Amino acid sequence: MPQLGFGVWQVPDDEAETAVATALEAGYRSIDTAAIYGNEEGTGKAIAGSGVPREELFVTTKLWNADQGYDSTLRAFDTSLEKLGLDYVDLYLIHWPTPERGLYVDTYKAFEKLHADGRIRAIGVSNFLPEHLQKLIGETSVVPAVNQIELHPHLQQGASREYHAEQGIATEAWSPLGQGKGLLEVPAIVAIARKHDRTPAQVVLRWHIQLGNVVIPKSVTPSRIKENIDVFDFSLDDEDLAAISALNEDRRIGPDPAEFNGA
Ligand code: NAD
Repeated sequence: MPQLGFGVWQVPDDEAETAVATALEAGYRSIDTAAIYGNEEGTGKAIAGSGVPREELFVTTKLWNADQGYDSTLRAFDTSLEKLGLDYVDLYLIHWPTPERGLYVDTYKAFEKLHADGRIRAIGVSNFLPEHLQKLIGETSVVPAVNQIELHPHLQQGASREYHAEQGIATEAWSPLGQGKGLLEVPAIVAIARKHDRTPAQVVLRWHIQLGNVVIPKSVTPSRIKENIDVFDFSLDDEDLAAISALNEDRRIGPDPAEFNGA
């Protein structure tokens, strides 16, 4: 799995084709979409039109909450695959645990079947807290390859990252730039960017990379799409890393996975 990919949340279907095509031209080889984003078709069109061999691409999509359950998962997966125009995906994720509904174990068993059938290369989850992972691992056979969680300098997720490392689960950061809001203007980040002659977004992405997180920044602006992948030819030093790590506030932008039951 490439450590840096392209996220397409909030990109309308008719714009996704152009955005994903721009990302593929810029060198991205990993794309993160989801059934609920409504842009699997546009994403699939860009992939088909790119000329990039399928085996060089890493395509992730996610099962929406309303489709949890064994049979409904199998049906939802068929729909996603058809919209993407693919015959397999590289990674399929349960989008949220929705713990009150008690369906994620059955849902994951359907993932295991699709995995065994060769229609999904790797299976994983998103927004799972350690307690949800523990239950899942106890009741199923395949340890999730990935947990995609909200993670950025204001929400560094130390406990989850530690638990993932113990279990051999890759940590993937969603909203790695904190959705670009105040985070990219934080003085400590701006100062580090000046020091390295880079942008604040590049500094934040580089911090994730050096920590070992998988990142999937989103942009529809071609110059930013290029800027966000151009983070492999410089390094932050220990002082920079410590200054960014000091920004943790345990502050979420998105919902709390223990409570979110959005349908
Ligand atoms: P992000 O942290 O990637 O921020 C994106 C925003 O930051 C852009 O809309 C733009 O306003 C700004 N930006 C991007 N590049 C910039 C640059 N170089 N300079 C200045 N500003 C820049 O936020 P995101 O889109 O929420 O998260 C990334 C991806 O994570 C999503 O597209 C999606 O694929 C995934 N995601 C998953 C979940 C989940 O529940 N699993 C939830 C949210 C997002």
